[in-house]
Amino acid sequence: MAGDENVRVSKKLDFNTFEFEFENLHYAEGRGRTYVIFDVKPQSEGGRCERLWGYVRNNPSFRHAEMILMSKINDHLETHQGNYTMTWYMSWSPCGNCSSELVPWLQNLLEEQQHTLTMYFSRIYDKYKALDYRGLCDLQHVVSNGFQMGVMGQTEVDTCLAEYVEASGCPPLKWLHMTDSNATQTQDKLSSILAGTWIHQEMEPAEEEGEGSQGRGGRGRGRRGGRGRGGGGGRVEHALRSAFTQ
Ligand SMILES: [Zn+2]
Repeated sequence: MAGDENVRVSKKLDFNTFEFEFENLHYAEGRGRTYVIFDVKPQSEGGRCERLWGYVRNNPSFRHAEMILMSKINDHLETHQGNYTMTWYMSWSPCGNCSSELVPWLQNLLEEQQHTLTMYFSRIYDKYKALDYRGLCDLQHVVSNGFQMGVMGQTEVDTCLAEYVEASGCPPLKWLHMTDSNATQTQDKLSSILAGTWIHQEMEPAEEEGEGSQGRGGRGRGRRGGRGRGGGGGRVEHALRSAFTQ
């Protein structure tokens, strides 16, 4: 398993890890890792196609999760040729460096080989804003065929809980009631980034609707503790559609 300990194939993510790592906080403290739940599904039956699913996490100070996942998918496609529909559920959006690697990889996979990828993320990574936002724009505008990205709303969270998280017998997510309101503002921010109209401003942390939604790592409200920003109110469905039509 050396070198592969950060990839779990055909394994569901445990509930507590999902609850902590995928919370779409405005200020996310203590989320130094990136998790990507992935599903690579054959577009048709037969042939050498075989589904590949599971999750991957980054290897701190060595490899980002996206790089590990790209290698895993490359290996799979070499031995299981066919066309695939890929979905990634990510705790953070790709950083600028990963985006610069993803763009040519996706151009080859999606435009030359007719695979598709839909990428959802809980939070927008912005450690190096200019670089990271440029990367998102490149992904959206350079990779044209078969690619969509958007912010995870409750629909995607529900899908993860149903299919990719070991959630049986677990209580409801502490932050489920805040998911769509937080996602909507994050989606608005993403739309502004992709349109090139994002103006840096501190966004108001989302109002909590009651007790019991405190993240395990602390919400760090009002502090610059994490890698991303979120927050907000409204409905996420509209926001997802608007991002997909950028
Ligand atoms: Zn990265």
